[in-house]
Amino acid sequence: MNEKNCILIIDDDPMMLSALNLILSSKYTVKSARSGETGLLIAEKYDIELIILDLVMKGMSGYDVLATLKSNDKTKDIPVIFITSSEARGDEVRALTSGAVDYIKKPFVADIVTLRVGIHLKLLEQMRTIERFSLTDGLTGVNNRRYFEQQMQKEWVRASRNGTWLSLLMIDIDHFKKFNDTYGHLNGDIALKTMSQVLTSSVQRGSDYVFRWGGEEFAIILPDTPIEGTRLVGEKIRANVQSTPVICGNDSINITVSLGASSIIPTPSNCPNTTTEFIGEVDKALYKAKSLGRNRVITVEEMYTLNKEDTEVAETEFFKSTTSHPTEIEN
Ligand code: GH3
Ligand code: MG
Ligand code: MG
Repeated sequence: MNEKNCILIIDDDPMMLSALNLILSSKYTVKSARSGETGLLIAEKYDIELIILDLVMKGMSGYDVLATLKSNDKTKDIPVIFITSSEARGDEVRALTSGAVDYIKKPFVADIVTLRVGIHLKLLEQMRTIERFSLTDGLTGVNNRRYFEQQMQKEWVRASRNGTWLSLLMIDIDHFKKFNDTYGHLNGDIALKTMSQVLTSSVQRGSDYVFRWGGEEFAIILPDTPIEGTRLVGEKIRANVQSTPVICGNDSINITVSLGASSIIPTPSNCPNTTTEFIGEVDKALYKAKSLGRNRVITVEEMYTLNKEDTEVAETEFFKSTTSHPTEIEN
């Protein structure tokens, strides 16, 4: 971990705060709070990576602070080290079973505090590395399907709570089997990597997420984006993919993609009203784009209009064919 790690110390004893500050501030950014209430506000506001928490304080106790931290999504995973002069039996057990990662008794030894803080920050870094790997696609480096499921659910809940738009693009490489058959699977993999780069550079907002859905299919979640914007992003992707050749040795090969798109403000009465149904509709729009000749964007709305037109044409054809042979019908 680097010097930028931010540690919060919560202790109602000013002497204790300055002693711990002195020990830790040469390596870390240290924030201090003289009450649990203030500490919680700081933890909510900043990206705190570790908290040193006094057990016995005026106002909220260390246990109360820990329970509140654990009940908040933003703060629940921050490692907490209790530091206390409590001699009460069972406090150490209670502290560790409540979710603290460590327990240091006062008076403390400066080196031990530094070492323990270092160990917990190292563990945190390792946890983050494992988490990053578990959510990343190994070949392309973009987010994987597992992360998609998590993020889609999270954004769906957020959009329904705030009454905001949530959009999804699903993208599939055209005739990719033929690409692999012609140029080989290793070059197919290069195409997938090129695709990921094009997709990543085609979305602009920090809140936009690119995922490899599986095989040669990708998905992009665009929060706070209505359908006009989503269509524009989809069209930009379509054009960028078409104009970015896949470089395979001396060959430069052009590929195209088909896209399905949809936007929704999720409400309980809306249809679709689950992420699965929403994804299913976008997938159908993608396959409509395929059936219309590929290398295009089709929104769910357009798919329904086109399907209706298809039905009307079919009905008209049927009507023509039946009315032109009245005797056959009568028979
Ligand atoms: P369409 O235009 O209808 O999408 O046709 P397609 O050939 O792209 O679609 P299909 O689903 O029939 O074939 C997908 C192919 O994508 C099968 C396989 O050759 C290739 N593919 C899937 N995953 C990978 C991968 O991880 N690496 C490589 N190199 N190829 C993959
Ligand atoms: Mg496919
Ligand atoms: Mg395909």
